[in-house]
Amino acid sequence: MRTIDADPDEQFYRDTEAVAFPKIDDRQLALLEPLGKRRTLRRGEMVFKAGQRDLPLTVILRGEIEVFEKREETEQILGTPGVRDFVGDVAMLQGTSALASARVKSDEAEILQVPAAELRRALVELPGVGEPVVNAFIMRRQRLMRDREFAGLRVIALRDTREGHQLHDFLAKNHVPHRLIEFEGEPGQALARRFNLTSRDLPALIAATGAPWRRPSLREVAQVAGLLRPLTQGDESEIHCDLAIVGAGPAGLAAAVYAASEGLKTVVLDGYAPGGQAGSSSLIENFFGFPTGISGGDLTYRAQLQAYRFGAKFSTPSQALALSFHDGEEHRASLQIEGCFATLRSKCVLISTGADYRRLDAEGREEFENSGVYYAATALEGQLCGGATVVVAGAGNSAGQAAMYLSEGAAKVLLVVRGDDLRKSMSDYLSRRVEACQNIEILHRTEIRKMTGGKMLEKVELEQLETGERRTVETPAVFSMIGAKPCTNWLPPEIERDEKGFIKTGTAVAAHPAWQKSKRPPGPLETSMPGIFAAGDVRSGSVKRCAAAVGEGGMAIAGVQAALASPA
Ligand SMILES: Cc1cc2nc3c(=O)[nH]c(=O)nc-3n(C[C@H](O)[C@H](O)[C@H](O)COP(=O)(O)OP(=O)(O)OC[C@H]3O[C@@H](n4cnc5c(N)ncnc54)[C@H](O)[C@@H]3O)c2cc1C
Repeated sequence: MRTIDADPDEQFYRDTEAVAFPKIDDRQLALLEPLGKRRTLRRGEMVFKAGQRDLPLTVILRGEIEVFEKREETEQILGTPGVRDFVGDVAMLQGTSALASARVKSDEAEILQVPAAELRRALVELPGVGEPVVNAFIMRRQRLMRDREFAGLRVIALRDTREGHQLHDFLAKNHVPHRLIEFEGEPGQALARRFNLTSRDLPALIAATGAPWRRPSLREVAQVAGLLRPLTQGDESEIHCDLAIVGAGPAGLAAAVYAASEGLKTVVLDGYAPGGQAGSSSLIENFFGFPTGISGGDLTYRAQLQAYRFGAKFSTPSQALALSFHDGEEHRASLQIEGCFATLRSKCVLISTGADYRRLDAEGREEFENSGVYYAATALEGQLCGGATVVVAGAGNSAGQAAMYLSEGAAKVLLVVRGDDLRKSMSDYLSRRVEACQNIEILHRTEIRKMTGGKMLEKVELEQLETGERRTVETPAVFSMIGAKPCTNWLPPEIERDEKGFIKTGTAVAAHPAWQKSKRPPGPLETSMPGIFAAGDVRSGSVKRCAAAVGEGGMAIAGVQAALASPA
């Protein structure tokens, strides 16, 4: 039973021990045995090394192994698995690099090693093996992310610099365990001395192998973390697949799970990190099946592992730069990818590149994302500001709707508008309602300059643009309704878009010349080019919500199957 003053970390480790470290039973061993190879190793011999990719799953049959992290002169022992334990981590599913090393501790050890590719197949095909192994991998990674002693990759950066935070954010969104170490502090100074780093070399990354990287690009960071996997084997100039999914937010990830589980050869690209916008949401409370909410990062990470398990291939960061078509060929779509010399040729493509919410250019805004700055005004956000003064920024219909909705529960709504006339950008009926509402005050020619508070937003500073006068308002919430920009500028003109740049699909594109000569009508999520689909926030008319994106991602695969069975 948990005592009142129990250390929450210790309690967490105790509670999760059984899931993280199950033993392999006779039945599971008999299923794994034909896929792997037995080896006998002596004391001190390495089983694998930090930085190594495509690790095999190691089941210990006799003896003991020691898993450790090496940091400069010191070694941190992470575990000493024994008979019927298995050594492994999600890196095996993702094909990323090992974060730690392992060697034989006992005089001799007999192990069974199952190669990563065989393991991935086994997790889908062998009943009773996949679930405990994948659950153990996920739990081990969660424990490692929480472990204060484990360093993983180390980022050394000057305090509060954008570049340092970007590396930190990139590694966090890609679920790579790491530490952000301030250069100014004693540990930062010691590391800088050791690796001969000056402030000009920062941010710097210390790899699991101990090698320092000075001012690395995100691609270099991805390479060190083992995230960047070459799509080609050798020097091929083309890579072929059934379905290329561009964008790994909720829509792309859901599509990847369904496509790979149905046996389609699936490649998923993302320009930054899987998770998309949902990855930056600390708690999604309206996604069904999670009554107490789930962090967007956890939700999408699980989906990503599920897609890996079914055999989808991921490449991040891989920005799609251009899409072109080859009529009459089986792999009719061609994708050019940043940093990849080969062309990705696919029978079908799903565009799920989402949208970027325009961010307010106010000092301190980043600190309060989701703890005071919101991009939707639903009942959930409404609850957070009942009885308070809230701020809505924007002059379009979404800002007007948010202001009207929030006025029902808030003491006062300040509608901050850059221009001088709401009617120029908002529907007439709505602007009249907003103007007539007793507790909405419209602040024309005004911008938000600064946001301050503790853990949550407390105050904003507003500037009247004509007079330059500034005032401070106490508020728990700013609703940013200044528009979203679809990520579609890389697409060719053949992919029809609406006036705001969102991709049209289904009946909206039926009159397009490409469909006029087709034997079948476009599927509901098919674009103006047959075989090219769009799902999620990037699609014109879609509901900009996580569950809607997931639903569309799944539904797009039915369309892909139909298009493969009956090309236009
Ligand atoms: C802070 C925040 C909180 C939210 N909270 C909620 C909530 O509580 N509940 C809810 O239902 N919804 C919420 N949403 C909305 C929800 O997250 C989105 O509706 C959902 O993520 C849309 O999914 P998507 O897959 O269509 O696109 P996105 O999530 O936008 O993902 C698109 C992906 O495509 C990638 N990409 C873009 N261009 C390229 C390219 N050229 N090549 C390769 N990759 C590319 C991006 O890197 C990104 O990963 C929130 C959004 C934000 C920003």
